[in-house]
Amino acid sequence: MNVALIAHDNKKDDIVNLAVAYQNILKTVNLYATGTTGSRIAEATGLTIHRFQSGPYGGDQQIGAMVANDEMDLVIFLRDPLTAQPHDPDITALLRICDVHNVPVASNLATAEALIRAMEQGLINFKPRSN
Ligand code: PGA
Repeated sequence: MNVALIAHDNKKDDIVNLAVAYQNILKTVNLYATGTTGSRIAEATGLTIHRFQSGPYGGDQQIGAMVANDEMDLVIFLRDPLTAQPHDPDITALLRICDVHNVPVASNLATAEALIRAMEQGLINFKPRSN
């Protein structure tokens, strides 16, 4: 089970709190994150996380590549909808490729919690082929 965690700057406290709250389940899966999100979570929880580039330097696209290769099972991407990001096209592309490959993706905290709980119950890694 491979899970990606990404959060924009205004949402980093939220993703850290989420990871702390659900670390028991998160420690049972392979975690991937963009650079800064990954360091913040690792610092707060001690979880082992594969860190990609920071989002503006291509981290979103690296995670998107795993989605395109059907190597990602769940993406949690706490987006800040109120602030323009320098890499907005990459963010749109990541959400799009999740939809193309039918990968569950949460863009806010409420959905993120629902999906983590679903994963805990074994309901996530069951996805029909996208083609
Ligand atoms: P960061 O990237 O975790 O390196 O801040 C996230 C993003 O901006 O997409």
